Amino acid sequence: MSASASSAPASRLSAIDRRGAERDVPGLLTAALADPAAVVVAARRDAVPTDGTGALRFLPVAEIPAGASWAFLGRTPEGAPVLLAAVGDDALPELAWSSLRLAGADLDPVDAEWAVLAVSVARWLRDSRFCPACGAETELAQAGWSRHCPSCGRQHFPRTDPAVIVAVTDAAGDRLLLGSNAAWPQGRYSCFAGFAEAGESLESAVQREVAEEAGVHVAAPLYQGSQPWPYPRSLMLGFRAVASDPDEAEADGEEIAEVRWFSRAQIADALAGHGEITLPGPVSIAHRLIVQWLGERP
Ligand SMILES: [Zn+2]
Repeated sequence: MSASASSAPASRLSAIDRRGAERDVPGLLTAALADPAAVVVAARRDAVPTDGTGALRFLPVAEIPAGASWAFLGRTPEGAPVLLAAVGDDALPELAWSSLRLAGADLDPVDAEWAVLAVSVARWLRDSRFCPACGAETELAQAGWSRHCPSCGRQHFPRTDPAVIVAVTDAAGDRLLLGSNAAWPQGRYSCFAGFAEAGESLESAVQREVAEEAGVHVAAPLYQGSQPWPYPRSLMLGFRAVASDPDEAEADGEEIAEVRWFSRAQIADALAGHGEITLPGPVSIAHRLIVQWLGERP
């Protein structure tokens, strides 16, 4: 495998400038909409427009149909506003729309970050019109980043649900334990994952999920990096953990149909596309956790 792939980090630092402090500037959204240099990331559910090369296609404000929901996402390196337009399901049919699940891996890191940000905020704009505390219709504030309830006075923000995803190895680090979800096609394997529950630490969530899904126990999970994943509003937190009882590995038989230990040779074959199993694609943090382990060959 290539050196770049073997050193792929499980997380990436931000490549975009969100300008969060600007959101409180009065009239920011109005001024940005009137700025001829402004560029728009349109979001149609989880899809964004791409051009002929698969890159994210930024649109001028004038191309966005009436009725869109707007938010200020940040600025380009040149200082131009970057806006979100959350559009209806049938809007702009002439564009090529690509789901983040499919297009995400092909976008460059900057475009990918804008796209994930746009889809995440768009979902919140679409789904959270009413106050969860009292049911009244809320008013948008902070250039699309918060909602104020005029009835009970509460303020609401886009939510994120933490979820853990875990690459489990044996004590020597020579084998990787993966599971095949009952809902997946035969032969597809990935790391173990699940949402952190109310009142639960991430470390406890790792231990619980691995024990539930794979039947093994892990101590001292080590954080590796994170990935925002707007399905529906997750933040995937990647961990490595060592199974203290590797021979006990057994699928739960419900969510996970099968668990197996894999050697580096088997994983390398699968990543090269000629193994007996398939692994998650490069858009996912699971892929990065697996590639990171593979690159640690002693
Ligand atoms: Zn309220």
